Amino acid sequence: MGLRLYNTATRRKEEFRPLDPENVRMYVCGPTVYDRAHIGNARPVVVFDVLFRLLRHLYGPDHVTYVRNFTDVDDKINARAREMQAKGDGCSMVEIIRALTDETIEWYHADMDALGALRPTYEPRATDYIGQMVAMIGRLIDKRHAYAAEGHVLFDVGSYTEYGQLARRNLDEMRAGARVEVAPYKRDPMDFVLWKPSADDEPGWDSPWGRGRPGWHIECSAMSLELLGESFDIHGGGIDLAFPHHENEIAQSRCACPEGRFAQVWMHNGFLQVEGEKMSKSLGNFFTVQDLLAKGVPGEVIRLSLLMTHYRKPLDWTRDRVREATMRLANWQNALDGIEYLAAARRQAGVQLAVSQAAVEALSDDLNTKRFLDHCDGLTAENSYDSLVQLYLDLQLLGFDENKMRNAHFASAGVGRSQPGVSSPKIAFKISELLEERQMARQRKDWSRADEIRDRLAAAGVRLMDSPSTPTDWELGPDFDPAKLESLK
Ligand code: AMP
Ligand code: ZN
Repeated sequence: MGLRLYNTATRRKEEFRPLDPENVRMYVCGPTVYDRAHIGNARPVVVFDVLFRLLRHLYGPDHVTYVRNFTDVDDKINARAREMQAKGDGCSMVEIIRALTDETIEWYHADMDALGALRPTYEPRATDYIGQMVAMIGRLIDKRHAYAAEGHVLFDVGSYTEYGQLARRNLDEMRAGARVEVAPYKRDPMDFVLWKPSADDEPGWDSPWGRGRPGWHIECSAMSLELLGESFDIHGGGIDLAFPHHENEIAQSRCACPEGRFAQVWMHNGFLQVEGEKMSKSLGNFFTVQDLLAKGVPGEVIRLSLLMTHYRKPLDWTRDRVREATMRLANWQNALDGIEYLAAARRQAGVQLAVSQAAVEALSDDLNTKRFLDHCDGLTAENSYDSLVQLYLDLQLLGFDENKMRNAHFASAGVGRSQPGVSSPKIAFKISELLEERQMARQRKDWSRADEIRDRLAAAGVRLMDSPSTPTDWELGPDFDPAKLESLK
């Protein structure tokens, strides 16, 4: 079975056939850069990073081009810069915006690197492609798909009969339900802005329609055309972007380049909410990736928490989810201790090591990360050298690299493998504390204290399996008594 991806355009899972297997091309809408990325913004980054890694695995690392833009010209950026200017250090709007967008891009890189996301092949900044946007708008006017009015240029949605196909809405319904502000210069309330005038102090560029700036939608159409061509394979983003942003991108790109096919597959990740509620600053449940990292939640935990739910489903970010991800990572870390040396030795001995078919098939089923994790659980439970070497290789496909994870401190790091179903993070923490103390006792040759801890754990039903090379493993016996464990000192 080859790669199958759900295509929002057809509402079906389809077999993926790249236009050119030598150059598989993907565009994902990136952030508007004026603030730290919140945890919801991290979801598309991690989801499409998994797809990027899978495509590189299937087609070869040099045969995939991934573009994710930075929107660095936008009304929200201007508004933020005005607030900053009002607080006043005498800088111009343009200077403030440059510093603000530069700094936000740096933060974004640091945060997404911490989540183990590979950098895309190209990360274009919209302001470096203004010429291409102006050219595309000119072409749309020439072809009578757009018109200039009062310093603005608008796309004429009525000129494109397929408008609304991605969202499966028709124009009359949209007009009836339109809550968009109807500007006097619009011929149709659904017409959208391609170019708008800039105030003197705002960033602006000269154009045939006066000094101004591009609308948001044209940015992605122009950058994808420049970097990927008229036809490419995959276009992605959060589900909120499907309408109007992606609908408008399709209209612009198909009308400006009627020979091209624009994007073949449209992929959208579901939204993230927090403890069952929409994330919002007013509810106090809004947090950034940086907030979590600063609290000591490792990037791997955030990454895994985001991948435990299928990418198209809504994701509820909860404490329990983070705990579960932490537990799983601690188990992997413990199981894989020393395994990379074994893998290297096997490689040296000429053994061919490869990601397993089961792992590739799980992700090839529309990024079925749940199935992938079940497969990893199976390998962990099998607990043989073969299965652990396989786990080590397969986890890399999902973006978890044991060599990088080794120094991470998962809350229950050092804890032995736990039994599925019976262990809870609380139990694991308690046992790990006692094991650490026992380890220290042994180091100072305090054998009686070490034995005492062992005997007390045994009395609570926790069996220890010492090994000369790996940290002590443990399991819960049939006589396990959580209350006794809890009372141990
Ligand atoms: P923005 O900077 O708002 O344009 O968003 C950047 C990316 O994050 C887009 O792909 C959005 O669809 C996505 N996004 C924003 N909020 C969420 C959320 N709560 N859950 C999932 N994705 C989101
Ligand atoms: Zn876009």
